[in-house]
Amino acid sequence: MSEYRPVPRPREECGICGIFGHPDAAKLTYFGLYALQHRGQESAGIVTSDGVNVSQHKGMGLVAEVFSEEILQGLKGHMAVGHVRYSTTGASSIINAQPFTAVHQGSTLAVAHNGNLVNIRTLRDELEKQGSIFQSTMDSEVVVHLIARHAHLGLEGAIAEAFKQIQGAFSLLLMTPDKLIAVRDPHGFRPLCLGKINGGAYIVASETCALDLVEGEYIRDIEPGEVLIIDQSGMKSIPPPPGLRPSHCIFEHVYFARPDSDIFGINVYLARKRMGEILARECRVDADFVMPFPDSGNYAAIGYSQASGLPLEMGVIRNHYVGRTFIQPTQSMREFSVRVKLNPIRSFLQGKRVIIVEDSIIRGTTGRSRVNSLRAAGAKEVHMLVSCPPTRFPCYYGIDFPSGGELIAAAKSVNEIRQFLGLDTLHYLSLEGLVEATGGRKDHFCQACFNGDYPVPPDRLFHKLALGR
Ligand code: SF4
Repeated sequence: MSEYRPVPRPREECGICGIFGHPDAAKLTYFGLYALQHRGQESAGIVTSDGVNVSQHKGMGLVAEVFSEEILQGLKGHMAVGHVRYSTTGASSIINAQPFTAVHQGSTLAVAHNGNLVNIRTLRDELEKQGSIFQSTMDSEVVVHLIARHAHLGLEGAIAEAFKQIQGAFSLLLMTPDKLIAVRDPHGFRPLCLGKINGGAYIVASETCALDLVEGEYIRDIEPGEVLIIDQSGMKSIPPPPGLRPSHCIFEHVYFARPDSDIFGINVYLARKRMGEILARECRVDADFVMPFPDSGNYAAIGYSQASGLPLEMGVIRNHYVGRTFIQPTQSMREFSVRVKLNPIRSFLQGKRVIIVEDSIIRGTTGRSRVNSLRAAGAKEVHMLVSCPPTRFPCYYGIDFPSGGELIAAAKSVNEIRQFLGLDTLHYLSLEGLVEATGGRKDHFCQACFNGDYPVPPDRLFHKLALGR
């Protein structure tokens, strides 16, 4: 058996969930992480506190694989923080599983982090020169060291000092034995929302779909640059400095977030459907029907179909039982990893003019396999519409795109990509169209992977690594 890695797709970095004031805090956090599983599948962890004692459990794998009923019962307390991880920095191993915990002056601090710090190497080098010893390669450990260095300022002062020094994308949950603290970077790259459960307990989570599963009521987003402290005395917000301009990750709407979540003030399903409607306005193609390759482009395909009047069909069928591992096929079974998951319906596709709607093209290898499979099934014409602009630049803020050199749109023109994929037509949604679909606030979104305009410049070394040099 070997690891099933069928398609080179961009990966989300992490999901976080915290509960305060509920006797079943561990179980609610478990369900919150379950809802956020799409944001990371390599490891999962929960740390709980009863106000004095801290318990934790972490493991490699999916949430349902890492936790059992018995393990959850052993995680006592009315507060918890949890994390699901896909590694963008730091190796994939249990030592890098989060939440990260450390004991400082007799008190435990747990950190669950979503995002990437862009000055991590500089900060880590400086801390090591000053005597800090690191256990892992995670960004979160640097945060813990920075807070510990300023412990003499009290918790609020230490957090404020630490967050003055770190730069990049971070939605964070911190937990001391008696406080749950939510922090969002000044640009608000990653989503983070606050909700209430049964009128008494609080939940903070990466996406609103986690609130829905535990019957939480959405209150509001944590503001970019805000620090929110929840303890027995209630909630205290340290508001962001005035004049900040958000740079929300627009790719969350294109691909990462769950369609049933509302993020950055707009529902993801509606935004994706709108992308399809705008694609229909930008590019009309004479074809027999429009189809997604499930689950990429599903909702944009619905939007395109409704706006263009072309029927929506399912020309490929997904095998829902493909697990994370399977026995590798023989060398002669070409395109196996595509076919095992998605099988074209030959009798239906024969002689048809097909429009595929995709959410993104990253390396192009998956797209080429998909087009080949439709042609092999007898499709006469294959056209592709993509619900975002060409992805030309790497992401430094926590999305695991391949290095700059591997992004197909960094090296090829749209026409060259069309030829590489074997398509009759290729059209990408314009950046203006994408911004319109996500609410029209161009100056409120990071769009750097499309236009190279980075809101926070990365460390020189970090930059080189991301470019794959
Ligand atoms: Fe999101 Fe792209 Fe900006 Fe990264 S570079 S934060 S993926 S919009």
